[in-house]
Amino acid sequence: MSHYSSGDAARSAVSLRSALQSLPPYKPGKSAASSDVITYKLSSNENPYPPLPSVLDAVNQMSPEMNLYPDMTCQAVTEAVASRWGVEPSSVSFGSGSVEVASQIIRAVCEEGDEVVFAWRSFEAYPILTGLAGAKAVHVPLDENERHDLPAMAAAVTERTKVILVCTPNNPTGTSVTADELHEFMKQVPEHVLVVVDEAYVHFNVDPDAARGIDFFRAYPNVVVLHTFSKAYGLAGLRIGYAISPDYISAALRAVAIPFGVTNLAQQAALASLAAESEVEERITALVEQRDHVHQRLTEQGWDVVESQANFVWLRTGEHTAAAEEIFTRHGVIVRAFTDEGIRVSIGSPAGNQAFLVAAEEVRAHLDGAATSRNEG
Ligand SMILES: *Cc1c(COP(=O)(O)O)cnc(C)c1O
Repeated sequence: MSHYSSGDAARSAVSLRSALQSLPPYKPGKSAASSDVITYKLSSNENPYPPLPSVLDAVNQMSPEMNLYPDMTCQAVTEAVASRWGVEPSSVSFGSGSVEVASQIIRAVCEEGDEVVFAWRSFEAYPILTGLAGAKAVHVPLDENERHDLPAMAAAVTERTKVILVCTPNNPTGTSVTADELHEFMKQVPEHVLVVVDEAYVHFNVDPDAARGIDFFRAYPNVVVLHTFSKAYGLAGLRIGYAISPDYISAALRAVAIPFGVTNLAQQAALASLAAESEVEERITALVEQRDHVHQRLTEQGWDVVESQANFVWLRTGEHTAAAEEIFTRHGVIVRAFTDEGIRVSIGSPAGNQAFLVAAEEVRAHLDGAATSRNEG
């Protein structure tokens, strides 16, 4: 299904690109609807904390200059990120969110009809960015533990494959790939295929065996790492993310980037966030504790829920997804539902998480009731 219908054909004087017809719609997380119930928006993996005071100050100081174009080279924040990771500034490039950076990669690398391989279900933007670039999306199903099936992804590589997107921790399942698995995978993948490690949620990953993209960037000539300030750093509304890539790739990404796509406000906020890393760490630690608490309580309620290394949990509700979403909504908990597959719920404030857990218990009872009546019927 497409979100573009040609509508009244007689009035469509301009023909749109055929690629638009086959794009899946990007469904943003629903907003908290105004109603009598207090609502918690746990549908977009946003950070529940307000901006740090020092970050707000940095933005306020820059705001009188909004009549001016931003620094297109993102110089100061490029240097800060480079020193944060111990890489050359020439390896760092920015976009308005790491979604834009992912789009830059596909547009810079893929010719019409080239293939982009990714796990499925994974980040919703992947098939859209791929289709828009005129490339072909190759979906490789997650394994039975909701994890990337890296051997199957390596086996999906053909002569047309240009890019492989590895999302770890994976949105929406929260599972991450291990370093051993990713090394094994890199051995199978030809060097002319670019492997993009999308680490939007890496800050929440406490698995000591997990792959760290930066190590793979250092070890292989065909790895790009994607990071964002939207999740752990809480700057989703300002739109800033970056890639760490081999220099010739960084240069190509800058060439295809939207000119002046990253505002000075975003650049300053990112700089101030990097300078406040210990405060950011405290918040991450608190969110990880909340996540583990939510996981534990769900398990006690009888949910078979995979361990998440991100700031959300994944409930495999299958055919009962719509009914489950309805119950959550009634409790004022706005979740991200994927029809007939499952529900992703972001870790929010303690009050939001508590409201989610209360609703989850009712959903569990509903699902158990449905299973019982089927067995009896
Ligand atoms: C949220 C997210 C991003 C980053 O989004 P931006 O706000 O554009 O930086 C990238 N990849 C995945 C998998 C995400 O979930």
